[in-house]
Amino acid sequence: MARSHNFSAGPAALPLEVLQEAHEEFFDFAGTGMSVMEISHRSDTFIALARQAERDLRELLDVPARYKVLFLQGGASMQFSQVPMNLLRGKASADYLHTGLWSGKAIMAARRYCAPRVAASSEASGFDRVPPASEWRLDPDAAYLHYTENETVHGVQFAAAPEAAVPLVCDACSSLLSKPIDISRHGLVYAAAQKNIGPAGITIVLVDEALLGGALPLTPDVLDYASQARADSMLNTPATYSWYLTGLTLKWIRKSGGVAAIHRANQAKAGLLYREIDASGGFYVNIVQPAFRSINNVPFFLADPSLEPAFLRAAEAAGMRGLKGHASAGGIRASLYNAVGPDAVAALADFMKEFRRVHG
Ligand SMILES: *Cc1c(COP(=O)(O)O)cnc(C)c1O
Repeated sequence: MARSHNFSAGPAALPLEVLQEAHEEFFDFAGTGMSVMEISHRSDTFIALARQAERDLRELLDVPARYKVLFLQGGASMQFSQVPMNLLRGKASADYLHTGLWSGKAIMAARRYCAPRVAASSEASGFDRVPPASEWRLDPDAAYLHYTENETVHGVQFAAAPEAAVPLVCDACSSLLSKPIDISRHGLVYAAAQKNIGPAGITIVLVDEALLGGALPLTPDVLDYASQARADSMLNTPATYSWYLTGLTLKWIRKSGGVAAIHRANQAKAGLLYREIDASGGFYVNIVQPAFRSINNVPFFLADPSLEPAFLRAAEAAGMRGLKGHASAGGIRASLYNAVGPDAVAALADFMKEFRRVHG
């Protein structure tokens, strides 16, 4: 078996141990003689698995008891709508920090439900930073303040959670469980699993129960957090196989030492690439201000863009995949999620050095 070094932005690398465990019990889960895909979500076997995943998540993120933990469908993009549907609660507007492609999409989606205010934006400088808090124009009457903890396309990450007088909503799609996030400072945190937590198909929502119960009248029941919380995220058939694989990945994160240990490893991985970029004398370029460089996604350009196809071809020939930048940004992007091993990142850093030696 030849496994690639997988730098895909999502769906992304899963821990080999998780894939092996799933493989071993693929035809017979927990002595049932059935695949976990073939059993009812209402069965004791599945409910035990679901409860364990919630317990592991609560422990890993130190989620306070007053928060509901939901395992939903529709991806993070669904949350762009589901958040205003549920959290406007009679208010006419919500504040958004615009720091890259994904926060831009969240703002666009919110326009259907309210008048989202852009409290600050780094668009004019090409999304190279999080604007300093002194420049934010926050509305004390906003329903909530939304921010994107890690901009997966632009490689911009918050150094600390914003201070807000209104409920704080966090799109942590590409960073939840890759670094410590203080859930208790937030009203709601969401993340689709396919970056750091599992496969596509399941979205984790952590929400302060004090915010529940005021969904807009046209909100379908399956999109009402309060209804889903009452039904333990099983108002209808959940994405059982994704839930199961997410549970295995949570167990793997615990075995790896938890979020603090994973965070240290992720910082070291990202450091390797940023050092190579900074040492390249301008051969490789990352435009993000150092304080806001992402540990999850490292986007960069070659100063000579005509070399990019050769870079990608040679990387692929060396067993490194998923390095092409997002269509909207171009260039190269290396995603270094939890399951991407230090060996893979070291191989990429060596490859970059060698490519620069040959072509620089
Ligand atoms: C990937 C991503 C999304 C979109 O996730 P989907 O599950 O594809 O809807 C939203 N926000 C961020 C920060 C992301 O990285």
